[in-house]
Amino acid sequence: MSTKKSSLTYEPVSAWDSYATTTRRRQVNALAQRYIEFLSACKTERETIAYVQKRLAEAGFGEDFRKASVMRSLHGKCLFAVRKGRSTLASGVRLIAAHADSPRLDFKQRPLVEQACVVQGKTHYYGGIRKYQWLARPLALHGVVILENGKSVPVCIGEKPGDPVFTIADLLPHLAQKQSGQKVSEAFEGEKLNVVLGHSPALASAAKKEADGKDPLKAHVLQLLNEQYGIREEDLITAEIQAVPAGPARFVGLDRSLIGGYGQDDRICVFAALEALTSARAGSNSQTMAVIFWDKEEIGSDGATGASSRFLQYCMEDMVRAWAPAIPVSQVFLRTRALSADVTAALDPDFPEVHEKQNAAQLGYGPCFAKFTGSRGKYGSSEAEAEFFAELRGLFNKKNIPWQVAELGKVDTGGGGTVALFLAAYGMDVIDLGPALLSMHSPFELASAADVCATVDAYRAFLEG
Ligand code: MN
Ligand code: MN
Repeated sequence: MSTKKSSLTYEPVSAWDSYATTTRRRQVNALAQRYIEFLSACKTERETIAYVQKRLAEAGFGEDFRKASVMRSLHGKCLFAVRKGRSTLASGVRLIAAHADSPRLDFKQRPLVEQACVVQGKTHYYGGIRKYQWLARPLALHGVVILENGKSVPVCIGEKPGDPVFTIADLLPHLAQKQSGQKVSEAFEGEKLNVVLGHSPALASAAKKEADGKDPLKAHVLQLLNEQYGIREEDLITAEIQAVPAGPARFVGLDRSLIGGYGQDDRICVFAALEALTSARAGSNSQTMAVIFWDKEEIGSDGATGASSRFLQYCMEDMVRAWAPAIPVSQVFLRTRALSADVTAALDPDFPEVHEKQNAAQLGYGPCFAKFTGSRGKYGSSEAEAEFFAELRGLFNKKNIPWQVAELGKVDTGGGGTVALFLAAYGMDVIDLGPALLSMHSPFELASAADVCATVDAYRAFLEG
């Protein structure tokens, strides 16, 4: 919402002020608690899509377009879900697009090495990470191992109480004199992001038999993996194992006003869009409501499950064929309104110099519109139409939903992209709208509990139209 209508000037309004009653604060806290449970359980795109499928199935979604609530997934890594509206598809769809992948460390195809009395898993990082943030902290392993016969073996170690965790050892300060003088970009190397997996040989007989005395520590790790998962070293070649921060998301602050946890870019928007889709009320002339959760956004949106693939188009074609075969699919696309649901950077209390304050997102001031993304002269941005932006501003003001506008940093400082341009390619109206984070892309990102609530409210209002 904006300031009082009597005022000529504009100032954004804190979402906390919108949720000022005891009842509303309790609702904010309860929603945040559920969000924390979601974040703690969903640390990979596969886990996130499986969670979404379960929630949607409970809400009556099936795979058949002869029904009015439909979901489609591809490779278990991206998902399209839609609720048929009362008004014709000729007026388009109300679509929210978020991404389920987050930066992390992927195991290499041949990960296991034994050196200096430890076994390590070699990794190749995925997405934009600040490498030093991943050192000297507990990590968990999540993923799948696909056997020759096609069987998928799920792996999750380091989350349950009593599970061991893993870690990447950092250089001690006593020997870091040379490193301390290096540039950050040079001081931390991808090839040194090796996850400690074990340190002891198997009992003499077993180790000797398995490894013939060579790499006895690695032989022991393989023996344990074989006992628990029935896998051999060659099976790791066809695995997708991700090292992610271990442990649950948490409330942060004495007032429990913040949520700290891994993967909030962009699972906060997946969570909010899912909440909105399952709780939106379909009015008498409601439009068709849809969400799409993509993969691969953090590495450029390429790939079958990324936003540049044809998956959304195929889903929309199947939907139009089933529900309104006389209407051209192109017309449905052209009349569709979409939110590119992704996070932005909150004004950082310790690094205000990278932001231009008046146009920076403020934590706790509701979801942020980004009219454009990209960098250095709006390169790589689709930029939303002012007409569409005004329509949404009016909608949120009418419903007293807090919102703000944001640019990602100062003009020449950097920037970033989202999936908006892949939606804009269909000619639809699309604008970025998502909550602001502190410590974005870190193992412990921070979001405001009020923003989680405001984002759900905003997405629901958008879907309801
Ligand atoms: Mn994102
Ligand atoms: Mn990101």
